[in-house]
Amino acid sequence: MQVTYKKIDQQDIEFFQSVMPKSRLFVGDEIHEDYSKDELAGVHQYPDVVVEVINAQEISSLLKYCYENNIPVTPRGQGTGLVGASVAIHGGLMISTVKMDHFLELDKENLTLTVEPGVLLMEISKYVEAEDLFYPPDPGEKSATIGGNISTNAGGMRAVKYGVTRDFVRGLEVVLMNGDIIEVGGKVVKNSSGYSIKDLIVGSEGTLGVITKAILKLLPLPKVAISLLVPFPTLEQAVETVPMIIKSKFIPTAIEYMERRVIKNAEDFLGKQFPDASSDAYLLLTFDGNSYDEVERIYEKVAEVCLEGGALDIFISDTQERQESIWSARGAFLEGIKASTTEMDECDVVVPRNQVAQFVKFTKEVEQSVDIRIASFGHAGDGNLHVYVLKDQYSDAVYKEKLGEAFDLLYKRAAELGGHVSGEHGIGYAKLPYLRAQQGDVYMNLLKSIKYAFDPKGLLNPGKVC
Ligand SMILES: Cc1cc2nc3c(=O)[nH]c(=O)nc-3n(C[C@H](O)[C@H](O)[C@H](O)COP(=O)(O)OP(=O)(O)OC[C@H]3O[C@@H](n4cnc5c(N)ncnc54)[C@H](O)[C@@H]3O)c2cc1C
Repeated sequence: MQVTYKKIDQQDIEFFQSVMPKSRLFVGDEIHEDYSKDELAGVHQYPDVVVEVINAQEISSLLKYCYENNIPVTPRGQGTGLVGASVAIHGGLMISTVKMDHFLELDKENLTLTVEPGVLLMEISKYVEAEDLFYPPDPGEKSATIGGNISTNAGGMRAVKYGVTRDFVRGLEVVLMNGDIIEVGGKVVKNSSGYSIKDLIVGSEGTLGVITKAILKLLPLPKVAISLLVPFPTLEQAVETVPMIIKSKFIPTAIEYMERRVIKNAEDFLGKQFPDASSDAYLLLTFDGNSYDEVERIYEKVAEVCLEGGALDIFISDTQERQESIWSARGAFLEGIKASTTEMDECDVVVPRNQVAQFVKFTKEVEQSVDIRIASFGHAGDGNLHVYVLKDQYSDAVYKEKLGEAFDLLYKRAAELGGHVSGEHGIGYAKLPYLRAQQGDVYMNLLKSIKYAFDPKGLLNPGKVC
């Protein structure tokens, strides 16, 4: 049942003030501009009220009230998302979790870490690595919250070997729209106890409930990590080598592809040279393990495969300093591309790994046929590409038309190749038309039925995902 949303008034604000102090509640002009957008920047809307919550009870009281009064609610982490998912497109109340940033428990007997949702990804790696433990998911934006990562099922570089965020969530505490607080999953390693509500909530982009606690699975920290930077004569040859690597059964931790144009954007952005300038296309691979010998045995095999695939050379980075200089450039690709243009939008499709080369080739054809600059890089090892359509000198109207044309072609081709709309950034608001186009009514109605089972009035992060 879709209700008519109520506009927040003074009486509602007085209720919110009864739940929390004024210092954590922002109304109208007091709301910072950051809360009107995310990193996509193409979707803008201010919420009417922002609250910085500190515990599940506060969230429960707020949601219960909003449920009874038909007020839309948008959960929010750090706003680093790229699909408009944390933008309050219908106004209403925004619940920011950034102040729920406590580590609750490190359980070394169960290898789990329990955290509040506002803990930042970068803090998690620091915290567990100091204890010789490892939280493998490694999305590029380290200032994102773990609540945001869980809600988008964030991927990142190490997905090739370790999987994605969903694979590392053991349990969650979640507040439902009617104010009920539930716990799903737990510290258990296995669980076949009916439908996995936990796995539904992971990746639900704040549309099913607000995550207030997460139990994360940890691994022992690998002792050795080595990167290979591998130049190729062309980008096609670089990406065509990736399925050969996968077929070799010597699986790296990460396989990223990059081309000169994008490297140049990152160099300009960072004011720092990339460690190699000999080629226009590269694969960047990482390997980890418990001894140098173990890692060397694997990377030597993969290096052989790369040379068979036409690689021009193999540069081994086995010092912290060298690895950092390469990975800092890789980490700046998105910001570098953004800084090189006036506006951009992203297509984050995922295709089977043996179709990455086809898709990359297709992006070049679209660049020509639509006559618009397209930059791409991505996680070649898991088939997830980040393709950016750039506005440059075009007017708003021309860009909108060309962007639509390019996206229609790109999403259609990804589907033909057996791919999906989003590999890791989610659907949010911006990618909803493409999800609908690919999945059709039966699938979308199933998503809606799930949504309404959790949130019968459609008040939690409305207009997103389905
Ligand atoms: C430079 C850059 C690089 C990036 N690289 C990657 C990458 O490699 N891999 C990747 O997957 N993503 C990447 N991202 C995208 C982004 O960082 C992720 O989507 C991240 O998970 C968002 O976290 P956040 O805290 O910023 O969440 P927000 O953007 O605030 O919110 C994202 C979604 O989660 C929901 N949400 C947030 N907290 C909660 C909660 N506690 N309960 C319920 N719902 C909640 C929001 O409603 C929204 O739907 C990148 C972004 C940038 C800017």
